[in-house]
Amino acid sequence: MALPKPTKTLTLSESSYLVEVLKGMVLTMGHVIKNIFDQDRFRTIEYPDVRKPMTARYRGAHRLMLRPDGGVKCVACMCCPTVCPANCITIVAGEAENDPAEKFPVSFDIDMLRCIYCGFCVEACPKDAIRMDTRIYEINAYTRQDMVHSKAYMVNLMDGLKPEAGAAYRADHAIKPHGHTPDEPPVA
Ligand code: SF4
Ligand code: SF4
Repeated sequence: MALPKPTKTLTLSESSYLVEVLKGMVLTMGHVIKNIFDQDRFRTIEYPDVRKPMTARYRGAHRLMLRPDGGVKCVACMCCPTVCPANCITIVAGEAENDPAEKFPVSFDIDMLRCIYCGFCVEACPKDAIRMDTRIYEINAYTRQDMVHSKAYMVNLMDGLKPEAGAAYRADHAIKPHGHTPDEPPVA
């Protein structure tokens, strides 16, 4: 099949693209010069000394909420692991000693390497026991195991953000995430 003929013949300057390249460079240099003299146009955030403020709706690291008596609000209903599309929540349920009808999570782990931060777990929880309102976005670790956030880690997470602990937290997450380890503080 024959190719369609071009409807317009390019002039010499157009076919060399020289003028267009020069116009592009002038435009780029104009922006560079404007930015140099107007620093507000390209303000940088000096992380980690300055942290970007996140909106209230930002879904950061999960935390587990406590009842006024200090126990976890979670009743191990299994709604969140059921709804989780990434299948990254693992809960082992136990019965309260003084009330067999009352359950609580013996362990509650979230594999943050698999989490997609959809927030379904928060939406599904009937007890407001899990939230993602920490605004923590530095979720990292040296090992895969440390990326599993445990119950103790998620209960104590906000302590790491208190002013007196803020520097330590920023330096090296004050509370280390870890899975089932014997030295975890008992949180019922
Ligand atoms: S945010 Fe979504 S993917 Fe992550 S634990 Fe909750 S339900 Fe699962
Ligand atoms: S966090 Fe909420 S939804 Fe998940 S098991 Fe506990 S009570 Fe149920």
